[in-house]
Amino acid sequence: MDRRRFFKTAAIGALSCAALAPSDAKAASQPRREQGSIIDLTLCDGCAKLPAPACVGACREKNADRFPRPDPKYLIDYWPQKRHEDWSGKRDVINRLTPYNWTYVEKIEAAGQTIYLPRRCMHCDDPACQKLCPFGVIGKSKEGAVGIDANFCMGGSKCRDVCPWNIPQRQAGVGIYTKIAPKLMGGGSMYKCDMCADSLANDQKPACESACPKNAIMFGDKADMKLEAKRRAEAIGGYIYGVNEGGGTATFYVSKIPFEEIDAAIAAKKGGDKAHGRPQMPVGVESKLKGADALFAAALIAPIAAAASAAIAVYKGGKRD
Ligand code: SF4
Ligand code: SF4
Ligand code: SF4
Repeated sequence: MDRRRFFKTAAIGALSCAALAPSDAKAASQPRREQGSIIDLTLCDGCAKLPAPACVGACREKNADRFPRPDPKYLIDYWPQKRHEDWSGKRDVINRLTPYNWTYVEKIEAAGQTIYLPRRCMHCDDPACQKLCPFGVIGKSKEGAVGIDANFCMGGSKCRDVCPWNIPQRQAGVGIYTKIAPKLMGGGSMYKCDMCADSLANDQKPACESACPKNAIMFGDKADMKLEAKRRAEAIGGYIYGVNEGGGTATFYVSKIPFEEIDAAIAAKKGGDKAHGRPQMPVGVESKLKGADALFAAALIAPIAAAASAAIAVYKGGKRD
């Protein structure tokens, strides 16, 4: 379900509250608080005995009908692109983030131990991707889920450029450019984890949490998740990642091993590969809305934002007529 349909579903859900019993109606009228999650690396075993991690399989199954279906005639290089990004022939890839794989599990060796790292969007407190999207198609739900409306994304990938972990992934040959400027543009659309926003809005668990046989993924009230992550880290003399990184996020990793060592192990495994899709875990990484990066980011979007936003507005207006 895309973000637009999600909000519609949420609205229908809100209307249906009128039919609930009084006590239920009272509970439903409480403002929903932002959700967060714990990813406990002391519990995750990578589903080593299964053909693939259960969280990855569950995410793919839940979101399959939202994966891109590109039109082959638009899978071409548009100036000034040197190459278009096409994952449509590699839909089975599960060892990195792609437009068809919104979470994956990185296996690393650190401090003499094998560690499995489920990775996906961190759902930042003040998301750089949302702030810097020139077209305003990235939103944050009242549950704190950061989602991209792939129907109106132009695929310029500025969200990936400004994300501290370069999370969103691009697929060419889909998106609004194929309708408003198929001969001029050709980015495609960006895709990533949306925290199962539709499930959260209906008080259901995200698919990855439900599927995990080790309870290594837990969603809940964000403040509670942060406290619980701190409690778990203290209990094992361990570490947390995600509280301060990126200016603060809604995802809290718990580990016995320092994240500096985990980051170094990811870097060593990547061996200088700078391609997006297998993010490192730099400790204390700042939001790119801060300092020199913010100026860079503003300059990045300024020349194209107004024109493209106007084009989208015209297109949306036309669709309503
Ligand atoms: S992790 Fe990246 S994609 Fe996710 S909300 Fe933060 S800035 Fe956006
Ligand atoms: S929260 Fe939902 S979209 Fe995100 S990784 Fe888990 S299953 Fe996938
Ligand atoms: S988080 Fe759970 S489902 Fe995912 S790889 Fe780890 S143990 Fe398996």
